[in-house]
Amino acid sequence: MPLRRCPCGTGLPLAECCGPLHEGTATAGTAEQLMRSRYSAFAVGDTGYLLTTWHPTTRPRTLHLDDGLRWTGLDVLATTGGSLLAAEGTVEFRAHYVRGRAAGAQHEVSRFVREDGRWHYLDGVSRG
Ligand SMILES: [Zn+2]
Repeated sequence: MPLRRCPCGTGLPLAECCGPLHEGTATAGTAEQLMRSRYSAFAVGDTGYLLTTWHPTTRPRTLHLDDGLRWTGLDVLATTGGSLLAAEGTVEFRAHYVRGRAAGAQHEVSRFVREDGRWHYLDGVSRG
């Protein structure tokens, strides 16, 4: 059986890319890595990971993913900060999806903060 490719688009198997982050056996070193792993979590339906990587001040109490939406690809367009030693960073991305027979994309600039050595998603501004 072929290994499942990671949804975030690195070309690596899920188990060698975002999988260990989802399982808690690794943590994201950079804001972009966290962003990619969160995209993958949306793609595989891992709400637990999405909530634990959400900053406590902006985290929703519960999260229901849209079953009708299938995530089909991620383009990381730009990043600021977010390095191994940074405390803040932004990632601009376009996430592609299919709903029924219609394709769409979410274009957003997400903000991330690192606290206690872990990156968290803070919030995002849609770029329409
Ligand atoms: Zn990945």
